[in-house]
Amino acid sequence: MSIVNFLSGGGTALFTEEAIRERVKTLAARIDADFAGRVPVFIGVLTGSFIFIADLCRAVKIPCEIDFMRVESYGAGTVSSGKPLITQPTKLDLKGKPVIVVDEIVDTGLTLKAIIEELSASGASEIKVCALVDKRAKRRTEVNVDYTGFVVEDGFLVGYGLDAAERKRNLPDIWLLEEI
Ligand code: 5GP
Ligand code: MG
Repeated sequence: MSIVNFLSGGGTALFTEEAIRERVKTLAARIDADFAGRVPVFIGVLTGSFIFIADLCRAVKIPCEIDFMRVESYGAGTVSSGKPLITQPTKLDLKGKPVIVVDEIVDTGLTLKAIIEELSASGASEIKVCALVDKRAKRRTEVNVDYTGFVVEDGFLVGYGLDAAERKRNLPDIWLLEEI
């Protein structure tokens, strides 16, 4: 992976809008097949997943419910604080329903672990995880990602919902901001 300097206008995207669209279509087709005849609840992890879940839920053909949870872990920095806090739980009744947690990127895995722990007391019939990017190098806890868009080793990514101090979320492609 090369360091891209998109801030000065150069470089290339790590995952283009077109590549993301294709992966989202594939993930949606798998979810359609796996959840045929059922009505899953998509729970997006705010803020970063808002674009991914918007595209994913429009690409699936099965009926679904949609809600969000807010988990804070990064603050304004690029290194995880290590202690994710659930600051907004879901308001939906999940009893007996299958849940698909939708996150744009898994890094240490601590955020997803906190969410799965919180949801495991909700009575959901099943909890699956869908992540657009599985970032492997800094994993600190085992998390099973059932639906993965892309795998990267490391680096700080921005765009398609991923921020750099709250900016760059609206870039249509995913860029590598910094190679660590
Ligand atoms: P984890 O708890 O797995 O370390 O991190 C989960 C959250 O941290 C992600 O949902 C995302 O919001 C943020 N995050 C992790 N890696 C990156 C990254 O490369 N870029 C950005 N912008 N956010 C990241
Ligand atoms: Mg996130």
